[in-house]
Amino acid sequence: MDLSVAPKNIRINQIGYSEGLPVHAAVTAGGPFRLEDESGRIIRSYEAAPAGVDPASGEPVRLLDLGILPRGAYWLRSENEQRRITVSPRPWREVTNALIKGLYFQRCGCDLLPVHAGPYAHSACHTAPAADWLERTVMRRVKGGWHDAGDYGKYVVPGAVAAAHLLYAWLLFPEGCADPLNIPETGNGVPDILNEARYELEWLLQMQRADGAFYHKLTKARFAPFIMPEEDLQPEYLMPVSHCATGDACACLALASRVFRSFDMDFADEMLQAALRAWNWLLENPDFIPFRNPEDVHTGLYGDGSDSDERFWAACELFAATGRPEFLSSAETLFRAGQDLNVFGWNNVGGLGAICCLFVLKEKAGDLLYAALKQAFLRQSEEALALSARSGYGTALSPDRYSWGSILPILSNAMAMILNSLLTGREDMRTAALLQWHYALGMNALDCCFVTGFGEKTVRFPHHRPSGADGIDDPVPGLISGGPNNCHCYPATREKLGESTPPARYFLEETFSADTNEIAVYWNSPAVFVGAFFNSLPSPVSPNL
Ligand SMILES: [Zn+2]
Repeated sequence: MDLSVAPKNIRINQIGYSEGLPVHAAVTAGGPFRLEDESGRIIRSYEAAPAGVDPASGEPVRLLDLGILPRGAYWLRSENEQRRITVSPRPWREVTNALIKGLYFQRCGCDLLPVHAGPYAHSACHTAPAADWLERTVMRRVKGGWHDAGDYGKYVVPGAVAAAHLLYAWLLFPEGCADPLNIPETGNGVPDILNEARYELEWLLQMQRADGAFYHKLTKARFAPFIMPEEDLQPEYLMPVSHCATGDACACLALASRVFRSFDMDFADEMLQAALRAWNWLLENPDFIPFRNPEDVHTGLYGDGSDSDERFWAACELFAATGRPEFLSSAETLFRAGQDLNVFGWNNVGGLGAICCLFVLKEKAGDLLYAALKQAFLRQSEEALALSARSGYGTALSPDRYSWGSILPILSNAMAMILNSLLTGREDMRTAALLQWHYALGMNALDCCFVTGFGEKTVRFPHHRPSGADGIDDPVPGLISGGPNNCHCYPATREKLGESTPPARYFLEETFSADTNEIAVYWNSPAVFVGAFFNSLPSPVSPNL
């Protein structure tokens, strides 16, 4: 994408729109606008109207509600601009599939073969045994897992959360994410979204220490330069264990044990036993110690100020997996202590515990963890709707919260609103969730589709080592960029964009800019959840205009 080319004043979901769902476009200048069908017949007209300045983008933005349109192609036109809008059944299947397949491209420790990876094939990487950082004579061979992001590290906290997003996408919306993806396991009788999750789950199992705790991460001491992964031969280390890694792995493996029980009983049992050992370690180590990078280690931190939410999620999942009352009791105690139920990112997993209570356990969770938790969840998820309503684009993010990976809170809020709509049937929640999906796919201040390989104006230079090192013009497809960040950005980014660039435009389409244009497995995964939901909605009978 060439950001020096002025964005168009009409911003749309560049992949298209779904029949049966409301169609929105954002306009930043000009008017009047008219919506025409392909033969030029005017369907609707929109007068030029003054628009308030959107605080995040600094632009005068109006959100045009084009209504529910029959399948077909349309033009949204003003006097000097036009944009083609397509409406079709299930328009987002391909991008959702690509977002899952994007995780396949992050696989470590195996050959990516041309038959699955096309021009992005490469040989196996990071296959040497790793040393325990604290006890260098202890060597372990840990295979597999996903490279976390633009770097080649593998981290338990975000990896467990990303796998859980896939598992819940499958549990809640199986018809929206069940397509074959041309990965090595395709055709083995297990849906490919679960095959892909299993690649990470098998790695997670190897990250457990004999006493039940989980190593926080498997990385080198420093990030690799921009080389292909198989050329990255510096030694990897098992970094010290942490409470949050142990809690997240415990929860994710307990969840996965339920999901895989009907496919592979032995694998399910192995994961449940690992989760129970992790829980026992948490019981024996009640005092939270935040993870800190050892001296001389400069890879990702994934630090956290509390493990209350990880323990809460783990207790919920263990109760769902075993039915043992002590887990319900622990989950109740942790819920009473206060949980954020409407967030689904790596540093706060309270929302994943809430999904377990509201959609898996339901009445079995009891009055506190079902009825009371539901009321609290519905109340908290109103915040996402209020944020969306205050934004010109309908983007559910406060202007002062465009931080590293701003796509995550936006998609997390979409998840909260989707879940609210499932519980209440509220269309306003579902429509606002859809606006977040439109944001990701192009209806934003940058006129940019954030998923590589998709859209008319899309990310071409993500901070992603293989994309930068493989000699191929196009980046690895199906990876979602973190997007604008003016809270924690590099001095070089600040120098280029200055103080006056609005937060939603604080973005550099440049490989070096990890702060605005990195990719990460745990940004792909909530996008998969959101895409799977919208793919799963029944096809309506098209209205006649
Ligand atoms: Zn690797």
